[in-house]
Amino acid sequence: MQAEIIALGSELTNGEKLDTNSQWLSTELAATGISTHFHTTIADHIDEIVDQLRLSSQRSDLVLITGGLGPTLDDLTRQAMAELIGTDLVLDQESLHTIESMFQKRSREMPERNRIQAMVPQGAEAIQNLHGTAPGIWMQVPRTDSKPDCCIAAMPGVPSEMKPMFFQSILPRLSHESNIIRFARINCFGVGESKTEELLGDITSRGRDPEVGITAHEATITLRIKAMGESVEACEQKISETYELIHERIGEFIFGYEDEELEHIVVALLGQQEQTLATCECGTGGLLSYRFNDVASSANFYAGGTVSTIQSVLNQKAQQTGNNQITLDASDAISLAKATREKYASDFALSIILDVNQSWQESENAPQAFVALAAEGVELVEEIGLTVNRAIAKSRVTKAALNLLRRTLISSADEK
Ligand code: AMP
Ligand code: MG
Repeated sequence: MQAEIIALGSELTNGEKLDTNSQWLSTELAATGISTHFHTTIADHIDEIVDQLRLSSQRSDLVLITGGLGPTLDDLTRQAMAELIGTDLVLDQESLHTIESMFQKRSREMPERNRIQAMVPQGAEAIQNLHGTAPGIWMQVPRTDSKPDCCIAAMPGVPSEMKPMFFQSILPRLSHESNIIRFARINCFGVGESKTEELLGDITSRGRDPEVGITAHEATITLRIKAMGESVEACEQKISETYELIHERIGEFIFGYEDEELEHIVVALLGQQEQTLATCECGTGGLLSYRFNDVASSANFYAGGTVSTIQSVLNQKAQQTGNNQITLDASDAISLAKATREKYASDFALSIILDVNQSWQESENAPQAFVALAAEGVELVEEIGLTVNRAIAKSRVTKAALNLLRRTLISSADEK
């Protein structure tokens, strides 16, 4: 069964509100084995809604609509559904009675306008709404090419009304697929999107089961695995086989699963090894410290940190060496990490140098940043090549610093 979702409302298309209903519905459909092929968002314009319904009802077995069932003039779902099948709206007595009694309970008279909410296209069915005034609508539309009818279900836009209606009245009507769908995520750092695809090879080919997709967010690469099977166990078995294949090919870049970020892994590893971290950051405004300290229990492993500026590090260096140099290099990042480790008496210290004041657009070479790590007998530094995308530079270098520590912690655990 192929489904699609239509979110109606000018507040969605003009950017005032985010359509969260479609995401929620797709996840619930997937859990029962129904794939969603389209999300469409449309403003409150009747002609455009009818055009879309014509297209959707021919190409999909199931169309879920949310929004546009209110009593006001811009609520056009029921009119559009009637126009689609060329019928009039008729009054559903039971719905009218429910709406009237809802107003009575609140000791208010039902405004005449609310009558429209009890109207459904002739031949369609009203669906009770236990949490609001707007009933939903269930309607079947014949299709060409001897395909089975398309089922259209219209539900209220308000998420707290839509969700129970979906569970109570829509889900039981859907012919359940014999297969269910499960999703899993693998998170990687230190490799680009296209390189990941190259390394994974046939694992990312379309039509593979499980399907593996790649997305990138602020230098983190996420592999999204979608498995279909007759049971949760069957899906999980397929997912774990795919995990293994992925590990064989890009294991060195994998740091976590599902919602895990680098900082969660680093805090967990420091906890296991009972060690502490101090930080010194120039140019990130404290983002590294923020990320680390955002993890529950991180305080036990944080010795302290400094948020500094490139200029103050340059001044300090000029004082020490008498040299008025204008740039910092890898050795400065190491010196900073070592001094920070001493200052806070920590096991590990990370430093970051990111010159955010460079005129990035004009510079021929993309700007460089440095991350360094100091520990007992350990001095590591990495030069981070940044693209001109300033927006993610801070995020990328802080992740690179955390990843440097993560790799060091893992190899020191392996040695023990
Ligand atoms: P409606 O059913 O169109 O009258 O929508 C009522 C309210 O539900 C809107 O004002 C929104 O706040 C909310 N809403 C409607 N559609 C959505 C959607 N797709 N996602 C999240 N909230 C929505
Ligand atoms: Mg609306």
